[in-house]
Amino acid sequence: MALLPVAEALKRVLASATPLGTELIGLRQALGRTLAEHIEARVDNPPFDASAMDGYAVRAVDVPQVPTILTMIGESGAGRPFSGEIAPGDTVRIFTGAPLPTRSDAVVIQENTSADGSRITIQDPVKPGDNVRPTGQDFRKGQRLLEKGKRLTARDILLAAAAGHATLPVVRRPIVALLSTGDELVEPGTELGQGQISASNSFGLAAVVEAAGGEARVLGIARDTLQSLAAALDQAAGADVLVTIGGASVGDHDLVRPALEKAGAKLDFYKIAMRPGKPLFFGSRTIGGSRQHCLGLPGNPVSSLICSRVFLVPLIGRLLGREAPLESIDAVLAEPLPANGSREHYMRARLDLSTSPARAAPFKNQDSGLITALQNADCLIVVPADAPAQAAGTPVKVLKLDI
Ligand code: AMP
Ligand code: MG
Repeated sequence: MALLPVAEALKRVLASATPLGTELIGLRQALGRTLAEHIEARVDNPPFDASAMDGYAVRAVDVPQVPTILTMIGESGAGRPFSGEIAPGDTVRIFTGAPLPTRSDAVVIQENTSADGSRITIQDPVKPGDNVRPTGQDFRKGQRLLEKGKRLTARDILLAAAAGHATLPVVRRPIVALLSTGDELVEPGTELGQGQISASNSFGLAAVVEAAGGEARVLGIARDTLQSLAAALDQAAGADVLVTIGGASVGDHDLVRPALEKAGAKLDFYKIAMRPGKPLFFGSRTIGGSRQHCLGLPGNPVSSLICSRVFLVPLIGRLLGREAPLESIDAVLAEPLPANGSREHYMRARLDLSTSPARAAPFKNQDSGLITALQNADCLIVVPADAPAQAAGTPVKVLKLDI
């Protein structure tokens, strides 16, 4: 099978996925969730004409010149409105956030007045609307405030609460099961025996899943036998996505694909023209009556994390009903690059956003064994397959490593 270009592979991954169902959640659970519907205001904001300052509510016509003396007839506080009406020559002491008394149309700030008992001298000219926040100036009842597909931020939640929502309809979070495979793997923190390494991928990938808005379920480590793999694959029931890690090449111990196919999976592709990350597969199976996407990532930690950025994050985004799954940004090379081979290269690099256009500096050593280099990088330069050598200053596409 010819190597599939990355863009084509991603297209197929995304085409296979449709947004999950909706659930209603409280505002305190809403951070980072994705809206399943547009959100409209349930009330006007402010709900009443409100004072923006501490001072005196007046009818602007009662202050034709300054100074003018008005009679204070009461007080309007936040949550304690003045119950009477203002007649000509009257004023009401008012505080920030308090409703404007009926027939008043402006607030004179305290600093522009002087008081002698209930005789209030207005010292500065007044226009209607001064220091008043009119009803609905912020938003109107029925106005659309938040779009379906929006990932909720602190500001969105504040707005929804102000607009009278106690709960919000969000897309159910995709459950992503993560299965490490390999006889050499031990849980991080375990003293390493001969030939053993820490199973780091599942922890990095669980964080990727959660940062992308999914719910990670770490299944542990399967051994390189069909039996162990079969048992582990059964454990993935109930997950929307199964991610297997490693065991996907063509070595004698690479049994993940056969084990998955035995467990009912149909694979769409299993080799892509990507560096790092050639042995990557994708397909689906039915388990427990539900369809499950199956993504096989390379075992190499650097490769698996980069491939998760390119395939898993957009897949989760699509399951959450978001648009524009893989957003790259434009930059120029800070240093020259040699000609590329036949696979699209995702080069670890650092991005300088202080210049325009931004400049991306690729690391000298692109060895996919260097987890430290990946950790140090803040972006990936995407070099197309078969690209010729490129001089510094050449425009390039860059993928932010915001995970
Ligand atoms: P494999 O594709 O299984 O041959 O794995 C490729 C490389 O990645 C090997 O060096 C494995 O030891 C390593 N590897 C596989 N799975 C993991 C994992 N979950 N965490 C860290 N390294 C892994
Ligand atoms: Mg292995």
